[in-house]
Formats: sequence, C-alpha cells, structure tokens
Amino acid sequence: MAKSAIILKSASEIEQMYEANQIVAATLQMLEERIVPGVTTWQLDQWAEKLCRKRQALPAFKGYRGFPGSLCVSVNEQVVHGIPSKKVKLVDGDVVSIDFGVKYNGFYGDSAITIPVGTIGEDFQALLTATQESLYHAIAAIKKGNRVGDISTAVQQHVEQQGFSVVRQFVGHGIGKNLHEPPEIPNYGQGKNSPKLHVGMVLAVEPMINLGGPEVVVLQDGWTVVTKDKKVSAHFEHSIALTEEGPWVLSKRENERLPGSL
Ligand code: MG
Ligand code: MG
Repeated sequence: MAKSAIILKSASEIEQMYEANQIVAATLQMLEERIVPGVTTWQLDQWAEKLCRKRQALPAFKGYRGFPGSLCVSVNEQVVHGIPSKKVKLVDGDVVSIDFGVKYNGFYGDSAITIPVGTIGEDFQALLTATQESLYHAIAAIKKGNRVGDISTAVQQHVEQQGFSVVRQFVGHGIGKNLHEPPEIPNYGQGKNSPKLHVGMVLAVEPMINLGGPEVVVLQDGWTVVTKDKKVSAHFEHSIALTEEGPWVLSKRENERLPGSL
C-alpha cells in the first residue's frame, strides 16, 4: 500500500459511511440467521447480493481484482478470501467466516463475522469468542492520542494470552471512498512509530486469529487463504469512525451487543 496520507472524513461523510456500513451489517445479520447445516456458500452469496442490490448498494468485492463472488466465505481452516461455491455445503460443527463489503453513495462499508454451524467444539467456540473480544479491545483503543500500534497490541495481547495466534500476512486498513486506504492496521506488534489516531479517521479493524500456528498459505485458486497446519481460523471485522465522542462502530449489527465500555 502506498504511504500516502490518511484521508480524514467530515461528520457528514461519516454519516454516509454509517449508511453504507449498515447495509453490510444488515446483510451479515440476515446470513447469520440463515446459516444451518446443508446451506451452500453459494447460497449465502446469492442472498447477500440480493439484499445488497435491494438496498441500492453495490457488492464491493465482486470483480475486485477479479474476485468472483459478492462475499468472501471461508470455512474452518480457510482464513479469508474463500470463494462462494455450490460444492461447499456447510455441515454441523463447521465455523464459517463471512466478509462483506458494499459501495453506497460513493462510500464503502466493510465488516466480517465468524459464525458457528450447528453445534461446534469448545475449542472452536473459545477461538470465536477470543477473536470477537479482541476486536472489541481494539475498538476501545481507537481514541485520540493513541496510535495505530495500540490497536495492534490490543488484539495480539488478548488472543495470545489464550494460546491463539495472529495472522501476519493480512492486515486491517483505512476505508472511505476507497475500499482500502492508509493506514495499514496490523493485528500484532507495538507500532511505536505508527500513525497517531485523529478524529475523522475511519478504520476497518479485522483480527484474523488461528487456533494453531500463525502461518498461512494461498491455495491454487489464487484467493483462498488457509492455515498451514489446517487448524481452524476466525475473522471478525468492523468499520469504526473516530469522532469527538470516541469510537463509533459504523457496522454494528442490530443484534450485536457491544461491551458497556464502547
Ligand atoms: Mg472485510
Ligand atoms: Mg477489510
């Protein structure tokens, strides 16, 4: 990513980004309610695109660098960028990460959740819980005077103390009129010289956390990222604006309970 300047957003631009992100949030919540054993990842993609277009938004990932789907759907050991497929049927005990983005009125929204299919193992549930909590800790670190590195540290500390590991090769990002803008937001490290946080920044923070080791590889399809040790991975993402009042989770889902501190 070019080291160009971080683009700050005005209050009215942040309102517009809220609208875009709420379409993403509604789509993820709809999918969460429909995920049961037997559903294919292709069906999820169809449902998402339908709701997105009904809300007059464009699916942001479709055609992005040639990506074929509207959704990234990554099952079990797949970390991110899984391609929706009629051949991939979800079964009881799977975990499925869904990453969705839209463009609406010129602005992008971007969010992801990892959802259990039926009944999942305790270790899988612990990974999902830790990853979502790490995102909330990261959001709490989005405040004036902090640096991007404080977000990174918040994620890494929370998951590593529970024995999970942080994917290094993929990072969060600024978001606005572009899907990916500076700054890069790693989920590890201290970033002592990383950019300071200012009111008007909108950041897509997205911890990708593995049950086993941190190493990942890209499959032959050129997209799907999987863990090298084939152990399960989780991914949660929110787009957050830093306002005078503190962090505003633009992609908060209706059914999502943020911790009291946020
Ligand atoms: Mg995303
Ligand atoms: Mg993103």
